[in-house]
Amino acid sequence: MTATEILTWSEGRLTWYGCGPTVYDSPHIGHARWVIWLIVRTYVSFDIIRRILQNYCGIKVTYCMNITDIDDKIIRRARQHHLLSQYEQTACSIEEVRKDIALASRLVTHCAVPLAEYLDEQYGHTVNTLFTSLPRKYEEEFFQKMDLLGVGHVSNVMRPDVVPRVTECVPQIVEYIQRIIAHGFAYGQGFIGRYVSAGSVYFDVPAFSLHHSYARLVPESVTDLKSLAEGEGSLATSGEKRSARDFALWKASKEGEPSWDSPWSKVVVRFSVEGRPGWHIECSVMATAVFGAQMDIHSGGHDLKFPHHDNEMAQAEVSFLFDGAYFNGGPWVRYFLHSGHLTINGCKMSKSLKNFITIDAALAETSPRRLRLLFLLHVWNQPFDYSPDALAEAATYDRQFSTGTHADASRRCNLRYSGSNMADSFNTRQCLNELKALISVANSVVQSTIGSPTGVGSVRMVGNYIISILKVCCSV
Ligand SMILES: [Zn+2]
Repeated sequence: MTATEILTWSEGRLTWYGCGPTVYDSPHIGHARWVIWLIVRTYVSFDIIRRILQNYCGIKVTYCMNITDIDDKIIRRARQHHLLSQYEQTACSIEEVRKDIALASRLVTHCAVPLAEYLDEQYGHTVNTLFTSLPRKYEEEFFQKMDLLGVGHVSNVMRPDVVPRVTECVPQIVEYIQRIIAHGFAYGQGFIGRYVSAGSVYFDVPAFSLHHSYARLVPESVTDLKSLAEGEGSLATSGEKRSARDFALWKASKEGEPSWDSPWSKVVVRFSVEGRPGWHIECSVMATAVFGAQMDIHSGGHDLKFPHHDNEMAQAEVSFLFDGAYFNGGPWVRYFLHSGHLTINGCKMSKSLKNFITIDAALAETSPRRLRLLFLLHVWNQPFDYSPDALAEAATYDRQFSTGTHADASRRCNLRYSGSNMADSFNTRQCLNELKALISVANSVVQSTIGSPTGVGSVRMVGNYIISILKVCCSV
């Protein structure tokens, strides 16, 4: 995708849906530190493209990003928070605490995590909290972290125009699933023969594959059951699915899990089983609720290509199938954008390698402006390596852009060329290199014309040009 192509069909406006974070933990803690960097890599890269489209190409972008506020991890973590605080309030003697801690056999150095796991195992089914306060808290923390990645308001990650949350869209999700069932591409109890589903509903991948192409984004992953299982939780091995490739649209809730009423809630004999949405369905529904049957851009990290985006596409295609929207009006998504891989010092960020770095630590090492330049030096869909060398390179560019330019250079430099790089490929690294070359040429000109009063206007032009290009994506 290039901005030039976009300009030809967008007519000055475009719609963009980005898959948002699953807000289940603080960006400071454990696995979330790794997750938050993947998010940072994705959102800062796409923030740069969004700014180029808006600030350079003059396109009005309406950006929607969902918040996944209901999910297996959120449910477990919310229950654990609740039980742990209840435990702290009710455990009355040190002997009692010692006894309970001894039962939490996974206790190694920090007692809170294994104790919370233990309490969840023992009492999780009794918890009936609303599961909303925890994701709200981490959602706010997420946006605060994104705000830190810039200077003032100029180069923050721009907040989305629309932020739908899964828990606010359950009626639309139920309606959407009903359409998929009506079109013959999903099943639950009552229409699955010998396969008994206790209130869950599954997308029928083999039925879809008969007339559609499944996994178009990552065709080689059609049989990647490990990736598919990641979003399924315990349903991956429940034995309810007709095919291991099928995925959950609606999950029956167990005790201690949040639940909503649905047409599939009351079909189980003896029990009234309510449920909750599966993972992939949320984005198909929320994007449709905000943008209608089609959108221009859909973005996410490279890890979301399969199964998440492939499954979203399958759901959307069969949901709109008989409405005529899909085939008559073009594809559901015009362009998918996936950000490149993230590494730390050339290695994957991992707990075992102990190479986690928090956003706060990164900002202590460098400035938000240099961090932004670091992102501009990595093209959005290429691998991104966070390392001392990469930070040093960003600092070098920062110094060069900060020293300014003083030259009669407009005659010798094509002032359009760095901008065209930005528009035609979003190749921000090449753009920065050309701005740097422009400064070098300008500086050599100023050296050869020292004392000459001519060219002051041109000097200003070059300086203004460089500032205007930098301002598209970061503060100057
Ligand atoms: Zn999504």
